[in-house]
Amino acid sequence: MAEKTLFQKIMDREIPGDIIHEDEVCIAIRDINPQAPTHALVIPRKPIPSLDALTEEDEPLVGHLFLVAKEIAASEGLSNGYRAVFNTGPHGQQTVDHIHLHVIGGRQMSWPPG
Ligand code: AMP
Repeated sequence: MAEKTLFQKIMDREIPGDIIHEDEVCIAIRDINPQAPTHALVIPRKPIPSLDALTEEDEPLVGHLFLVAKEIAASEGLSNGYRAVFNTGPHGQQTVDHIHLHVIGGRQMSWPPG
């Protein structure tokens, strides 16, 4: 069996995580190294390695992740906007090979990102 990802271990309660949402499809946790006042990660239970590994079967799952991101933004009071982003691969600076949607807000963002 493949080695569990860090996020799988958090889901399985093998290591601690600050879980702020949980349902049958995904969990959301607070990022351990937040880049803004709100920084959450929405992570599907299915251990898809990255955006590049998505298949058509995952289409509803990805929609669900965005709806959960929107709910988190609302519950965190991010009425002035936020970022929802999948970092992908080395150039996208993805560091955990289990797809996750960053929800980042609570301060003014800049563009382009670094
Ligand atoms: P990425 O670089 O896009 O793959 O995002 C991985 C994110 O996971 C980073 O923002 C890290 O700060 C975050 N992270 C790493 N370890 C943990 C952890 N144990 N609990 C919560 N977030 C974590």
